Amino acid sequence: MLFLHYTSILLSWCVRGAERACYAASAVGYLTGRPGVCLVVSGPGLIHALGGMANANMNCWPLIVIGGSSERNQETMGAFQEFPQVEACRPYSKFSVRPSSIEAIPTVIEKAVRSSIYGRPGACYVDIPADFVTLQVNVDSIKYKECCMPPPVSMAETSAVCMAASIIRNAKQPLLIIGKGAAYAHAEESIRKLVEQCKLPFLPTPMGKGVVPDNHPNCVSAARSRALQFADVIVLFGARLNWILHFGLPPRYQPDVKFIQVDICAEELGNNVRPAVTLLGDINAVTKQLLEQFDKTPWQYPPESKWWNTLREKMKSNDAASKELASKKSLPMNYYTVFYHIQEQLPRDCFVVSEGANTMDIGRTVLQNYLPRHRLDAGTFGTMGVGLGFAIAAALVAKDRNPGKRVICVEGDSAFGFSGMEVETICRYNLPIILLVVNNNGIYHGVDKDSWKEMLKCQDATTVAPPMCLLPDSHYEQVMAAFGGKGYFAQTPEELQKSLRQTLEDTTKPSLINIMIEPQGTRKAQWHWPLLPEQFSMILVGMHYFPSGCY
Ligand code: ADP
Ligand code: MG
Repeated sequence: MLFLHYTSILLSWCVRGAERACYAASAVGYLTGRPGVCLVVSGPGLIHALGGMANANMNCWPLIVIGGSSERNQETMGAFQEFPQVEACRPYSKFSVRPSSIEAIPTVIEKAVRSSIYGRPGACYVDIPADFVTLQVNVDSIKYKECCMPPPVSMAETSAVCMAASIIRNAKQPLLIIGKGAAYAHAEESIRKLVEQCKLPFLPTPMGKGVVPDNHPNCVSAARSRALQFADVIVLFGARLNWILHFGLPPRYQPDVKFIQVDICAEELGNNVRPAVTLLGDINAVTKQLLEQFDKTPWQYPPESKWWNTLREKMKSNDAASKELASKKSLPMNYYTVFYHIQEQLPRDCFVVSEGANTMDIGRTVLQNYLPRHRLDAGTFGTMGVGLGFAIAAALVAKDRNPGKRVICVEGDSAFGFSGMEVETICRYNLPIILLVVNNNGIYHGVDKDSWKEMLKCQDATTVAPPMCLLPDSHYEQVMAAFGGKGYFAQTPEELQKSLRQTLEDTTKPSLINIMIEPQGTRKAQWHWPLLPEQFSMILVGMHYFPSGCY
């Protein structure tokens, strides 16, 4: 209970594994701005949590992990699950410590919570040795610490703000990039005002979606590559120039593009490119500083400029191309058909959680976000297995703050396998989650049932089954039914529409729709077994996340 004074939600290992508990707690941190707490057991439990800590730290999300550890007086003796936990957590956290005594716990916890949310948010680890649990101390010797204050709001230097405003005013082909840092900073109102007042095109990153609604006329997501490639001035609001944004380098960008970086972390400024201006501070505060400049001397980017026309044209043709794919009547369905039907029925205020390869990449281009902090996906680290943990976190936050809100979790069939047993957790707590498994019988692609049978005529599966293939026509919906939720199997657009309608109407139970799509349905190169060496190495380095995949 002590920790509840410091954090909004306490999560323990009520889920089916430390890693997922950690994913869930970190998503709570992102969604609420206060760290979720994940309790794990010693040794292997803590080791499993490292994946979740790394993911949180990479995403810059606050998280507290509290790990039990072996008794201090058995250290180096081969104690049960003995492991150097504080050291192991150090590379994955901002702060990793074992309190020196019971009396020190409140101070350490306060510091862990404060460190997780001050500056660039991240993970913190607190180690509690087993003997602490039974140790007796005088209650009067414990000094309770007050809950830490919200993070101080920092502002950029005025001269840098003036320079940034002047560069924006003189831009010929400007672009704003809105990252998940802007979502975390609750900068939606100020950024939207800047977009509308200055009539600037903007591009959200995957989890920056919804800070300004995806259907806003200034959103140029459907011309992503074009916008990045030809912009002459780019303002980055809480988005790093990492692999997701192609490092900010040619050929994906102009060699002389001027970057204006807005970030709370000084060490981030100047990574990979030399920015024209850096605005070190809180995104919401800095955006307001920029707005002051444009209030003092109003300015608008001309809506009928050549740049706007180029972007609009590209968006139109890309939209038409995906609509054409979506309208295909052939069976099995393709990704676009599936996502257009989902989009038609998606509640506007729902959380969208998504992971997978094409499922996540193509899904992101079709499924719209209208609200900030309403999309959770594989993120900066490209982690598979986060989906159900994130969905559980979103459902808990929704339950607390917006009862009735639904969580739609769109999973590839392979991604679902990483944490499928969490369906039991979802059913146990009767969480308002709708799981959509987009099933192509494999990773990138699989084979259909008939080809599978044909293949097995020659040799057994261990010899002939390509490593990217999963068992064809697996009935994942039965996993949900096994725990008392509602399972649907959809092979046609009509079945998909009907099951979606039913599941959205029935608010009493979680559900899972297993949606069969073309096993070979991808625009990426089709691979045949045996794989070429370079294809094999692409699998090894985790070629499963294409933020630019679609446009
Ligand atoms: P994306 O994946 O959406 O591109 P990143 O995770 O790469 O986003 O970048 C988020 C950035 O936002 C990080 O560099 C982080 O330091 C920054 N950030 C987080 N919170 C704030 C805040 N309140 N104000 C300014 N920057 C922030
Ligand atoms: Mg698949």
